[in-house]
Amino acid sequence: MKKIISLCLSLDQIAEKVYDALASVAEVPWVRELWRKMHEEEKTHVLYWLELEKEAESNNLPQLFDDPDKLVEELEKIKPVAEALLEQARSSPKTSESFLLAARLEMHLMHPAFLYLFRFVKQEAGSTSPIKNYESHLLNFNRHLLDLGKKSLYFQVLGESFQKMWIQTQEQLNKSFHDVLTGILNRRGLFHSLDIASHLAQRSNSQVAVVMIDIDDFKNLNDSFGHYSGDRVLSKVAVLLKKNIRTSDILGRYGGEEFLIFLSPVNVNSIFGLADKLRKCIAGEVRDPRPVTISIGVSSGRIVGDVQRALYKLIREADENLYQAKSQGKNRVVF
Ligand code: GH3
Ligand code: MG
Ligand code: MG
Repeated sequence: MKKIISLCLSLDQIAEKVYDALASVAEVPWVRELWRKMHEEEKTHVLYWLELEKEAESNNLPQLFDDPDKLVEELEKIKPVAEALLEQARSSPKTSESFLLAARLEMHLMHPAFLYLFRFVKQEAGSTSPIKNYESHLLNFNRHLLDLGKKSLYFQVLGESFQKMWIQTQEQLNKSFHDVLTGILNRRGLFHSLDIASHLAQRSNSQVAVVMIDIDDFKNLNDSFGHYSGDRVLSKVAVLLKKNIRTSDILGRYGGEEFLIFLSPVNVNSIFGLADKLRKCIAGEVRDPRPVTISIGVSSGRIVGDVQRALYKLIREADENLYQAKSQGKNRVVF
C-alpha cells in the first residue's frame, strides 16, 4: 500500500509541475487562469496523498488491492509519460498543444486506483469530498475540451473520448467492488462500505456487530465433488445470507469461503439469535451436493476513537471467536 500511495503522490506532484509550467508560459489570459486553477487542484490532490501516506505509515490502511504488484507496475509505466509531458510543458507549447498535453496527462492518470484511494482520504468537516474534488477537476477540464470542440473536430473527438473514458473508469471501479461469483461485495467493496458505515455508526454512537462466517470443511467438499460444486455452494450460501439480513446491513465476501456481515445499528440482545438463525438456515437449506454447515464468530461494540482501528479490532475479535467456533467442533456460533 505504501508503494502504491507514494507512486500516486509522485504522479500528482509531476502533474502539479506540469500545470505550473503551462500557466507560466500561457499567453492567453483565460488559458493561464485555467492552468493556474488546475495547478491549485493538483496541490490539493498532493495533500490527499500525503495524508494517505501517513495513514499507511501507521498501518491504518488495509491491503485494498487484489493484485498490488500489477497495480505498481501499471503506475510505474505512467511515470515516464508524465515526466516527458513535463518536459514538453516547459518548452512553451502553443495553446492548442497545451490542451493536448494536459488531456494526455489526465487520461494517463485516470486510473480506477486513483479514484478508489481518494475515497479513503479523511474528509475535513465541511469540505468537499476528495472524490468530488477530483471529479470536478476532470469535468471542468472536459468542458473546456468540448468548448474547443465546437470549432474543431479534433477537439470534439478528444473531448468526447475524455468524457467516455471518465464514465468507463467509474463503471470499472463500481464493477470492481463486486464479486463475480456470488454477486455480493468483494473484499474491496466490503472495506469501502465498512469504512463509510463505521463512520456513520460513530457519528450516531450506534451499537454495531461484526459477524464472521466460514463454511465448514469446504476444502473437502471441493476435493470430493469438484470446484464447480464448491462454487455453487458459495453462491447459495451468499444468497441465503443476503435473504436473512436487513437491506441496510453490509454483506461481503471476506475471503475464499469466508463472509462478513456488519450490522449497524443493532440491539446487543438480538445478535446471537440473528447469527444462530443464519447458521440454522444454511444447515437446513444447503444440502446439495451434501449437507453444508457454517461456523460463526461474532463481536460487538461501539466505534470509539480512531474509526479504522475500532473496526479492525471488532473484525479481529470476530475472527478469534470464529476460530473458537471451529475448535469447539464447528457448526456453531461463538459470541
Ligand atoms: P474449516 O472447516 O476449518 O474452515 O476447513 P475448510 O476446508 O473449510 O478451510 P480451508 O481454509 O482449509 O479451505 C478453504 C477452501 O476454500 C480452500 C479453497 O480451495 C476453497 N476456495 C476458496 N475460494 C474458492 C472459490 O471461489 N471456489 C471454490 N470452489 N473453492 C474455493
Ligand atoms: Mg476459511
Ligand atoms: Mg472453511
